[in-house]
This record gives sequence, structure tokens and C-alpha cells, in this order.
Amino acid sequence: MHLLAALLLAASGIASALDCKCSPSDPFPVASVCYPHEPNYNPAACTAVLSNWTRSAFHAADPVSVDDPAWSNNSCNPIYPNGTSITGNVHAGQQGCSIGNYPVYVINATEVEHIQAGLRFAKEWNLRLNIKNTGHGADRSINHGSLSIWTHYLKRVELGRGGDVTLMAATLGAGVQDGEMFAALAKHNAMAVGGANMDVGVVGWATGGGHGLATGTYGMGADNIIEAEIVTPAGDLVTANACQHEDLLWAIRGGGGGTYGVIVSVTVKAYPMPNLTLISLSLSARNRTTDHDWYRVVAHAHRYLADLQDNGIHGYYVMGGLPLAMNGALLLYDAKNETAERLLRPFRNFLKEHDTIISSTVEPAMTSPWYDIVQAMPVTESVGTTQGASASRFIPRRAVDDDIELFADTLETIMSRQGSPDGVSSPSISGTMTGSSLQVDNALHPAWRDSVVHLIVSQGWNQSLPSALAEQVIHNMTYEKGYALRQLAPDTGCYVNEANSYEPDWQSSLFGSHYSRLLAVKSKYDPDGLLWCRHCVGSEARVEQKDGRLCPAFV
Ligand SMILES: Cc1cc2nc3c(=O)[nH]c(=O)nc-3n(C[C@H](O)[C@H](O)[C@H](O)COP(=O)(O)OP(=O)(O)OC[C@H]3O[C@@H](n4cnc5c(N)ncnc54)[C@H](O)[C@@H]3O)c2cc1C
Repeated sequence: MHLLAALLLAASGIASALDCKCSPSDPFPVASVCYPHEPNYNPAACTAVLSNWTRSAFHAADPVSVDDPAWSNNSCNPIYPNGTSITGNVHAGQQGCSIGNYPVYVINATEVEHIQAGLRFAKEWNLRLNIKNTGHGADRSINHGSLSIWTHYLKRVELGRGGDVTLMAATLGAGVQDGEMFAALAKHNAMAVGGANMDVGVVGWATGGGHGLATGTYGMGADNIIEAEIVTPAGDLVTANACQHEDLLWAIRGGGGGTYGVIVSVTVKAYPMPNLTLISLSLSARNRTTDHDWYRVVAHAHRYLADLQDNGIHGYYVMGGLPLAMNGALLLYDAKNETAERLLRPFRNFLKEHDTIISSTVEPAMTSPWYDIVQAMPVTESVGTTQGASASRFIPRRAVDDDIELFADTLETIMSRQGSPDGVSSPSISGTMTGSSLQVDNALHPAWRDSVVHLIVSQGWNQSLPSALAEQVIHNMTYEKGYALRQLAPDTGCYVNEANSYEPDWQSSLFGSHYSRLLAVKSKYDPDGLLWCRHCVGSEARVEQKDGRLCPAFV
């Protein structure tokens, strides 16, 4: 009752403009402690914020903060005593701290009833809503002037049986993060699929698709969801599984978070703890190797990487342009002795044949229980400081079988610095080869199944870069590098959870042929469009105004 009374007071007087969502204002973002003009200014607390700002765990534990501050309009990033922000804006101190796009009210939802009350209240008062767990999906878990439902403390983890008693399953509260799930299941010598980052939320991850160290072998995050408890936008708690609300289950298995309802818990498949063989992959260009030759060998290498995936070896890599190098890890589950060596032989022979162009190491590094390797993985994340742009695409088998020259040209194009102003990093690529080819009837983008790699090319800068130049980089990324990728693979798309926030034709790119069916599910469960997030299914019905308000797109 207290919650409702407080919200009612806050909303009174502003609920009359019924077409646009109402937006009360005023509270303090976490970095406001750094700003001398703010009433809660506290230099010691500011030092703590500054030192934690680049850790995703910090933003996950805050009710409104997100990993990428560009989506809050950089409205209140922590500043040093000289007034320069951690993101490089030398005027930040003068500009001061404001609420920006951060939600103005948050429900710390620890009971189903909290979620139901929040949804009903928002509907009654025409409030803009937001759903956040960790804020990893920054552009989708921050909404200007919104009432936010924060699911972070729904932390239940229970290991049991799925509908089929032979199946192990884990029921996870909506706030559970990868690392928490892995640790809890490891106590029972079990595992379930999760992302490669320990702080990603399982629900936001799996509902968008979900790739991770084990997904190439055990199926995507979306494939592994068996059941979910969901509060629909009408405020009803429903169970979606193979027998009831099947359409809702289908949609949340790949059709994106924040769209069809607020998920309270998911039940996912669990497995006995496997052994994992980790294979290090390291390729680098010889001194006199040209870019042209390098990208041709690298493009060809993907044929072998595709064959390895057909034989159960998946993995990740990163590729840099200065120097020309590709480093990563390949992953093989429960393999007998010598299997890795045997499967790697053709790839190594290929690399040896190109020894004058490329130096290479492809070497099994260790075999251990899966969780031991997970714990030993270094944390690599770029959070809180850099402003960035990216373009991405699923590269289908066809591109490495039939279009190898075009693939090589595309790699060269997207890795080119051409058009990048000083102060912008050289492009780098991250390659995900942990897609599952197993067909499952769900809303996962169909292009995952035939993908040799999901490529993301990205560049970063700090806020000292003039905004016109930053816009130029985003434009170049979207319409030149992104265009090259779309030309290479016009009939695929890109991964919704890691897509360019400015992706053109996003409905088809992010959801493929499933879009119209997903839209029908959205219309059935959320006919009034209570839930809205950027480039989420049905979001074209509303547009954000310059002042941040969310209004009907077609009036
Ligand atoms: C550092 C980093 C590492 C990453 N690593 C990986 C990786 O290894 N593999 C991978 O596949 N992806 C990865 N991602 C992308 C990640 O999968 C997405 O950002 C994902 O959306 C995060 O989900 P979340 O719940 O943690 O984040 P949030 O930003 O809190 O939520 C993301 C979306 O899910 C919605 N949502 C969250 N909880 C609920 C709920 N209970 N009910 C309904 N909707 C909900 C939100 O509204 C939002 O739309 C990474 C991202 C970052 C920043």
C-alpha cells in the first residue's frame, strides 16, 4: 500500500496528458555524490563510484545504473576533482548531474505481488515502464521518466526435475546472474548454459537467444528454457510451458526480454558436470604480410572453423587490425584422449601451408571439469567509460563455402580505419562460434542455426570526441561497415542482444522470419503496449520524443 500511495502522489497532476506516457522527475543517480552542487555530495563515496564504474557488477547492483552510460545521455557520470568525467567529458562538472534517461521510480521486486502492483499501477496511470535486472542490455533496460521494475533480488536457484523425470532442471528467479547459477549448480556437480560473462542476467540473456561457453554443444539459452512464470501486462501470473500459454513460451525463447510480460522465474535444462577441453587459438600476421593476404587466409580459416563446429568444437575469438592478429579459445566437451588432436589436424595442416603469411598456434591447453575452467576465465568487459558503435551479422555457411573472396573483402572493409577520425579506436572484431545448429521450435533467430560465426565489429572513443564526429563514426559503422556485412549475408540478420542500436530494418535483422508471429503474441498479451524497449517486438508503435517522452508513432 505504501508503494502505491507514494507512486500515486508522484503521478498526480501529470496523468492528464493521456497520449504521451507521464514522467515525474527528480531523484539522484548513483554518481551524483561526485557533484559539489548536489545535496548528497560526498567525495569519499565518489571515489568508490569512480573505482567501481568500469565493473558491470557495480551497475547490476544499482537499481537504475546500466553498463553503457551513453543510454542515460551521459547525464551523471562520475567526475574527478577537476570536473572531468570518467568518460572524458571535460565539461561534466560544469554541466552538473541530472536524471537523464534513468528511471525516476524503482520497485525493488522481491515478490510476485510487487510486480503485479507495479504493472497495474503503470497501466492505471499511463506511466512509462522499464524492466531491469543487471543493466547489461543498457539501451533496453533504461527508459526516460519511467517506473522501473527491478528484478535483481529474485535470486531463487533450485535444482530438480523437468516435466520429463529423466531430465534435470533448474528453476531460477529472474534476478539470477550467470555466475550465481553456475556456482549453485556446481555444488550438485551440475551445470546449465549461461553467458560467457558472470554478471549477465540469465533471463535477459536467454530470452534474447543466449550464447555462452556451452551453448554450441548444449543448445542456446533460449533452447534450454522449459517453463517460465510470467506476470502478464494485465497483472496476471501465468505459467508458460509445453501445455499452457505455449505461444508465450515460444516467444520468450528468443523473441527478446522486456516485451511480453515480466518474467518471475524460468526453469531451464540442467546437465551433469561435463569435462571441457580448452584449445588456445592464436594467429598473427608475419612482418611482411599484407592486409589483403591476411584476410584471405583468415577467411579460409573459417571453413575449417565451420568443420570443427560440425564436429563439436565451438569457440570465441577476437581479431585486431593493429597488429593483424586473431586470438581465441576453442571448446570441446567430454572428449576422449586424442580426439582434439585428431579433429584439429586438417586445420593445423592448412595453417602450416600458409606459414609464410601467418604464424599460428592451435593447441589443447587443458582438460578439466567445466566449472573449474569457468572460474579460471579472465574477466574481459568494456563497461562504463567508452562510447562505442558496432555492426554485426550472422555469417552463414554459404559465405565460407561459396563466397570466400567476398568474405575476405568484407573483413578487410570492416576492419579498415578509413573514415575514422583521430581519437577513435581501430576496429576490432569479436567472433562467436558457439551457436547451436540443432533445430528447436522457438523464436530464436533462425540464422543462428546455420551460422559459422556471429561477427561484431566495433570501435570506441571517449567523450572528448566532438559529438558530430561521434555521429559520423556511428553512421559509418551502420551504413558502411554494416552495409558490407549485410551485402555479404543479406538473408541472415544479427543477434538481438548484441546488435547495433541503430540497426536499419531491425525487425527483420533481429527477429528474422519470426517477426510477424512475435508481433501477434505481443498484441495478444500486451494490447496496450505497456511494455516498451528499444527495437523490441512491437516497439515501432511508439517513438521517443526529443524530450524523452514516449508517444504514439502514428497519430
Ligand atoms: C559485459 C557484457 C557481456 C556480455 N556477454 C554475453 C555473452 O557471453 N553471451 C550473450 O549471449 N550475451 C552477452 N551479453 C549481452 C547480454 O546477453 C544482453 O545484454 C542481455 O540482454 C542481458 O540481460 P540482463 O538481464 O543481464 O540485462 P538487463 O539490461 O537488465 O535486461 C536486458 C533486457 O531484458 C529485459 N529483462 C530483464 N529481466 C527481465 C524479466 N524478468 N522479465 C522480462 N524482461 C526482462 C530487460 O527489460 C531488457 O529489455 C553481454 C553484455 C555485456 C554488457
